[in-house]
Amino acid sequence: LKGYVEFKNVSFRFNHAEEPALSNISFSAKPGETTAIIGSTGSGKSTLVNLIPRLYDATEGQVLVDGIDVREYNQSVLRDKIGYVPQKAVLFTGSIAENIRYGNDNAGNEEIKKAAEIAQAWEFISDKPLKLDEHIAQGGTNVSGGQKQRLAIARAIVKKPEIYIFDDSFSALDFKTDVQLRKSLKPETKEATVIIVAQRVSTIMDADRILVLDEGRIVGEGTHQELLQNCDVYKEIVSSQLSAEEIQKGGNV
Ligand code: ADP
Repeated sequence: LKGYVEFKNVSFRFNHAEEPALSNISFSAKPGETTAIIGSTGSGKSTLVNLIPRLYDATEGQVLVDGIDVREYNQSVLRDKIGYVPQKAVLFTGSIAENIRYGNDNAGNEEIKKAAEIAQAWEFISDKPLKLDEHIAQGGTNVSGGQKQRLAIARAIVKKPEIYIFDDSFSALDFKTDVQLRKSLKPETKEATVIIVAQRVSTIMDADRILVLDEGRIVGEGTHQELLQNCDVYKEIVSSQLSAEEIQKGGNV
């Protein structure tokens, strides 16, 4: 199995920032498992996952993929391993198919279509069949936030990566659509290492491992049920979002 991600005592500070955005982060994310990252806005979630495809490099410590420091990889080899779905998908003027194919020049039409179906991108134009030749206007101005995220997800699927990183990819979707989309993704991602940054507890309750970030530090690590027992920051996030009944159902929502 490939796609093992490991952080070893990682700290990161933006240029000129007084406080580090991340302090002494250690965890591992394994193939076949979903690792979720939750925490308030500004707690460092995006910064953390951005270190994997090397949008930033750690100031201290090491980020390893399959035991090798990401800084030692040939950049294209590393990029090929990772299906990174950014918070804000970048779209260009062109068809939906061209936008999904972006970065995967060899992908055939069938692959593009399948990826679009898995990402439920047909929801683009409600009541109409999937139109891969539909034109996207400059900067994606005729595409909604949720639709952009689906396109970015389809783009990642086409790559068949060992590691999926979803940076808040489900937050623009309503609860029901979020559940449907993650269900649709499961067969495609089940052997991969999946890392999900989320705002909604309901999105990540069933994760194999949840990391709770607070001011750039990991303040809790475990399953939903474990964190309910031993992590005050997690309990606070949960109680601000879920009803008591939903909390007890844990992961079966
Ligand atoms: P989250 O994803 O949890 O909302 P971020 O990782 O985006 O948090 O941000 C973590 C911290 O780093 C915040 O204090 C944020 O203001 C700061 N930060 C994020 N991006 C930059 C940047 N490009 N330059 C300087 N500081 C940044």
